[in-house]
Amino acid sequence: MRKATSRCWGSERELCYATTMPTIADQRAIRECSKLPFCYLCGNPLKRSERTRDHVPPKAIFAEEDRGVNPLILPAHPQCNTGQSVGDEVIGQLVAIAHGKLPKPGKTKLKFGAIVDDSGKPSHEFLTGHDLRPLIWRFIKGFHAALYREPLVVNGRANVHMPFPEGKQLLNGRVEFSEVLPQQRLITEEIKKNRLVGNLDSVRCFNDQCVYECVWVSDDSGQTLCMFALRLYDWEKLADRQNFTPRGCVGLYSPATGKPRTSTRGTSLIFPVSGEPLDPYDEDP
Ligand SMILES: [Zn+2]
Repeated sequence: MRKATSRCWGSERELCYATTMPTIADQRAIRECSKLPFCYLCGNPLKRSERTRDHVPPKAIFAEEDRGVNPLILPAHPQCNTGQSVGDEVIGQLVAIAHGKLPKPGKTKLKFGAIVDDSGKPSHEFLTGHDLRPLIWRFIKGFHAALYREPLVVNGRANVHMPFPEGKQLLNGRVEFSEVLPQQRLITEEIKKNRLVGNLDSVRCFNDQCVYECVWVSDDSGQTLCMFALRLYDWEKLADRQNFTPRGCVGLYSPATGKPRTSTRGTSLIFPVSGEPLDPYDEDP
């Protein structure tokens, strides 16, 4: 019998279960993910003859020294693993700036716009022309499959907020930036709170330059939700943090199959968290 090394809350007779929270971080755990029996993109079973290996996120977006250190590789059908090359290149060039590499002149896929003030000086610059959210959802599907060994089929609520203020360029040339939704603040708070009590499920890959963390909660109607945060290098620092509240990439989803058996439920403890209210990686007062 194992001797308890930590004190249990509750009476001595209370039943205790030794549990571990799913964490994919070391080489062995990450290597196991490539053996999943289903396609992480469509969720259907895979025959040996039809498996292809997909780096999640694409390895090209990482600095060369990080590409080979704990890459997350997941199986997929070849036909499911196509059609994202422009999005891959855009996010790749964006993340490359975060690790200090500027796109070569003439090769950039990034288009920037600017709002000018009355004196003609640019006051707000912004990235335009690409919705990166479908690509982020591919990554989320991969992290869910890796952590819980089951495909992700979303049912009902699902949303991802990019780490940059989002807006729409109107036909008259004006730009309308979206309001921050209350859920962005709520998700950030849940992530920070559960990180403090060691209660997050996580994937750390590509030399820890990709960090995905999540926790499971129930909303007011009793629906099960996964709340997550995703960090690629410190990409949130690429945002305009002068004119807008700094923010991280956060989101939520509700899977059709409910809460995975091995997932971690969020703490019900109520306590304040510090730092920027929309940035899950800023904890300084
Ligand atoms: Zn597939």
